[in-house]
Amino acid sequence: MDRDQIRQRLEFYQDLGFKQIYRRDPRPAAAEAAIEIPQPVPSPEMSLPPIELPGIAPDGDTLLRIREEIGECRRCRLCEKRNKIVFGVGNEQAKLVFVGEGPGADEDAQGIPFVGRAGQLLTQMIEGTAKKEGIPLLRSDVYICNVVKCRPPENRTPEADEMEICGEFLFRQLGAIRPTAICALGSTAAKAILGGRDGVTKLRGRWHKWRDIPLIVTYHPSYLLRPYNQNAKREAWEDLKKVLHFVYD
Ligand code: URA
Repeated sequence: MDRDQIRQRLEFYQDLGFKQIYRRDPRPAAAEAAIEIPQPVPSPEMSLPPIELPGIAPDGDTLLRIREEIGECRRCRLCEKRNKIVFGVGNEQAKLVFVGEGPGADEDAQGIPFVGRAGQLLTQMIEGTAKKEGIPLLRSDVYICNVVKCRPPENRTPEADEMEICGEFLFRQLGAIRPTAICALGSTAAKAILGGRDGVTKLRGRWHKWRDIPLIVTYHPSYLLRPYNQNAKREAWEDLKKVLHFVYD
């Protein structure tokens, strides 16, 4: 492992909340007694002191602190093609958080989640449904973010390691906001948050939990933009009504 790989590995553990990491003794115990093994000359990486790492969700964690810790992130390959990190937008004290999959081209250009076509539909869904249901609610009252903060090339689905690394920041965002409910948009968000393999069709229509926070899964707005998904649109509206009434009644 070279220095860069070691640094990346340490940053990964840092993000997972480890405060100190020790090297395992490379000598097998049985061989130790039998043979005199010359002490390895300490290489630069072996002589790294244990490093002080910040906790994964420190007390009083805030969105600002999480954003600062993300910095100009290079923890996974998504950094290579991104323009802007898309952290999240909305009310830090939101009672409802929407979580999508990852930024698209418009979001990557502006650094704001859900501002493209799917985003306009999401805004309409939130504000339109709330209005119809007599709930005074604007997009700016909720919080919107994604599982991964950098655009996957060609809008591909984020890969498992990318979601694992960035997911820690998502969990910290959710932990800092502590909303009354979470709405996962699409299968990728649902799987990343709930940790299972089931997709929207299996998960929607009933309540789940992330830690102790109720969570509902619904279709991703991009899916609803496809012309043949009328039934899914109706179901998404039902899901949204359910979560809005739960949070704001
Ligand atoms: N799709 C997502 O999942 N997130 C965005 O921010 C935009 C489109």
